[in-house]
Amino acid sequence: MSSSQPEGGQACVSSAIADAARLIADAAKLSLACHVSPDGDALGSMLALHHLALANGKASLASWPEPFVVAPHYLFLPGLDLVTKPADFPSDPEVMITFDCGSVGRLGELGPIAERSQRAGRLIVLDHHASNDCYGSVNCVDPAAAATAVVVRRLATELGWPLNRDAAMCLYTGLVTDTGRFQYNNTTPAVFALAEELSTFDLPISDMSRQLFEEHRFAYLKLVASCLERAELDVDLRFVATWVTEEDFRRFDVSIEETEGLIDLVRRSAEAEVSCVLKESPEGIRVSLRAVAETDVGAIATRFGGGGHRFAAGFTSPGTVAEVLAQIRGALVAGG
Ligand code: AMP
Ligand code: MN
Ligand code: MN
Repeated sequence: MSSSQPEGGQACVSSAIADAARLIADAAKLSLACHVSPDGDALGSMLALHHLALANGKASLASWPEPFVVAPHYLFLPGLDLVTKPADFPSDPEVMITFDCGSVGRLGELGPIAERSQRAGRLIVLDHHASNDCYGSVNCVDPAAAATAVVVRRLATELGWPLNRDAAMCLYTGLVTDTGRFQYNNTTPAVFALAEELSTFDLPISDMSRQLFEEHRFAYLKLVASCLERAELDVDLRFVATWVTEEDFRRFDVSIEETEGLIDLVRRSAEAEVSCVLKESPEGIRVSLRAVAETDVGAIATRFGGGGHRFAAGFTSPGTVAEVLAQIRGALVAGG
């Protein structure tokens, strides 16, 4: 955990959780925000604290930057009917809390509000990205935590807020998605201990798993077929990549949010250590990178203005698919 301004964003102390709990206890209203294009941990950790705040008599609102949409596989999450569009986010919140967000840049139009809150000493950052630059006034950043959901669980304990079923469903979603269904090497005994605690709330585990990881529209399967058909494997570089164009999204009538799991198919290639999916979007080429060996894709993504973890990272870049792909190959040739 980190309390204040550590160099390079690592050194963290657990007193940050106590500082965060004090700020929250003293506030009448919380304003929560998670990173742009929220994934299971961003939505799950934020909605969990939202549920707990409301259940404990604390006013709370939850939001994320435009595009204000949710990937279809997260639509079952309780609390999505209780969110606030970013245009209605308070410009000067009493206490602002960010979730799973390693830098202000990932907050889009909510970024300037976060910076204002930080200057006022009222920005709490709850995260687990090693690349987090500790942009909060209180930084609860634990790179050893498998998910931001783990950090939120600790904060709830500090606050004396008991878990409830809605919060447990949300925390479980963060935990199961960020550990790749308890498969990645961040799956520690602490992860199983939290999963055990959450499972006591009678969670619909198999329904959630199917929603999160299995079920897709038939149109998505057709898009996958097309993208796997064009995938390129560079045997020497041990690198596999494919891409989705704006024309693909149109032709198959699939949204970019729906394709979050495409990288999990591409990364199955036995011949590759690094895998990549590039997607054309209005903001530029969205890149997902995954690694199974030595290469630190978080470092590569950071160099291109993004971030993430050693084995899973991403960035958004201007240019064409071919140009961005060439830049990534260049970084890999140079040694990652
Ligand atoms: P994704 O490939 O989108 O599933 O993202 C994998 C990891 O990289 C997640 O931990 C994200 O939070 C992080 N990440 C993805 N895109 C970016 C970005 N543009 N900037 C910073 N981190 C990112
Ligand atoms: Mn995330
Ligand atoms: Mn996360």
